[in-house]
Amino acid sequence: MGGTFNPIHYGHLLCAEQARCKFGMDEVVFVPSGHPPHKKNSDIAPTEHRYLMTVLAIYTNPFFSVSRAEVDRRGKSYSIDTIRHFLEINKSRNPELYFITGSDAVMEILTWRSHDEIMDLATVIAASRPGYDFNRLKEAVGPARFRKLKLLQASALAISSTDIRERVRSGRPIKYLLPESVEQYIRKHGLYTNPA
Ligand code: NAP
Repeated sequence: MGGTFNPIHYGHLLCAEQARCKFGMDEVVFVPSGHPPHKKNSDIAPTEHRYLMTVLAIYTNPFFSVSRAEVDRRGKSYSIDTIRHFLEINKSRNPELYFITGSDAVMEILTWRSHDEIMDLATVIAASRPGYDFNRLKEAVGPARFRKLKLLQASALAISSTDIRERVRSGRPIKYLLPESVEQYIRKHGLYTNPA
């Protein structure tokens, strides 16, 4: 489960649980991106904060864990490196690997390093908000690659990290959009209070 998780919220958690159940996964490993290759956005909380919020969010689910693979890796966080890493550390188990992320991110997959290898090594699951038109994704990646994707409509993805950051900034409530521990962490460290 790859994402910036800026911050992680119930949409991500429910989406991961839905994917786990639908595709019969043994576990879901959340991989907060360390240095997102495509982002020049100063609105991204420091990596260690995003990592710790993810730990706080998932610890009650025995099927969930968090990886520091991208947090600790120097340089840009390329998904191909992460996928190779997980295949390598699990090679004795001969794992079937999925890469879950948002549909809007998958729409850009042709710009990612080694995108065809990513799609060969892992089954990419594109998770979308309600009302998302998957034809947009088909147009973006082409019919052949689109057939290799798995699609997941996740109703809880109506929650968005962007909205949560804007709410914090404007003093509006974020309760029930994300775990209370993550809300407390955001307040304690004053995250997302500066102008975007
Ligand atoms: P993003 O552009 O911040 O997010 C795009 C959309 O997808 C947003 O609506 C976002 O919602 C949603 N989303 C992101 N992660 C999600 C998840 N795990 N489950 C459900 N929805 C999700 O995307 P990003 O977070 O930067 O990147 C997503 C993944 O793609 C990361 O693992 C990143 O490393 C990878 N990526 C790799 C490359 C590369 O290898 N070159 C390039 C770009 C991205 P929220 O804002 O609410 O999360």
